[in-house]
Amino acid sequence: MTVLPDMTEAQIRRYARHIVLAEIGGTGQARLIASKVLVVGAGGLGAPLLQYLAAAGIGTLGVIDDDTVDLSNLQRQIIHRTADIGTAKVESAQRALADINPEVRVVMHPRRLTEANAQQIINGYDIVADGSDNFATRYLVNDVCYRLRKILVSAAILRFDGQISTYKAWQGAGHPCLRCIFPTAPAEDAVPSCAQAGVLGALAGTLGALQATEVVKEILGIGRSLSGRLVTYDALEASFEEMQIAKRVDCPTCGTT
Ligand SMILES: [Zn+2]
Repeated sequence: MTVLPDMTEAQIRRYARHIVLAEIGGTGQARLIASKVLVVGAGGLGAPLLQYLAAAGIGTLGVIDDDTVDLSNLQRQIIHRTADIGTAKVESAQRALADINPEVRVVMHPRRLTEANAQQIINGYDIVADGSDNFATRYLVNDVCYRLRKILVSAAILRFDGQISTYKAWQGAGHPCLRCIFPTAPAEDAVPSCAQAGVLGALAGTLGALQATEVVKEILGIGRSLSGRLVTYDALEASFEEMQIAKRVDCPTCGTT
């Protein structure tokens, strides 16, 4: 008989399909319940990410977003409803997550992540999933997670294309960071946004669900980490590709020279 530490009868039933997996079990589920995950952005990627992490029983879920729900968000940001238009995204998300799993403590951060607040906010979590929609935030999250030694699962989507990787560059050789791939952020106007170039709604679901999967794997220490690999998805081709990413000795964030 597997020991199920500090779990109620209702929790054992709620998480039964996890607990029956040999790789998770009662001990793994208890670890998920004890974990604290910060999701940056309650948008297209954040929507499936937050919903799957809440359903998985992540004990504390932080949501940071300074935006309100707009009609044009609803084509892909499926955590928000038509009735939520005009509401702060963190509030709309919190309500949806409470419906899915009232056991999860949702911490709302209704602000933009900045140089001034990033360290303090991120420090309160074990692991970060970035689904933000701009390069400045993505690089800031990368640099602060490296400094604080937090695992970062980062994804991006545009048009019909998505990409995802995991960064834990402080672990040394074989573990690059975002800046090892792209040392500096492109100018904000150099790359079109989803608003300008468009994005397939269901693509956000694909990449957000992959992020949720990798977050759970990292918390549990199971399977093969995405650290050192960049996975890209081409929705029109229906194909995944994988690239090995090398750590740069001259990386501005994690380099040694
Ligand atoms: Zn680096």
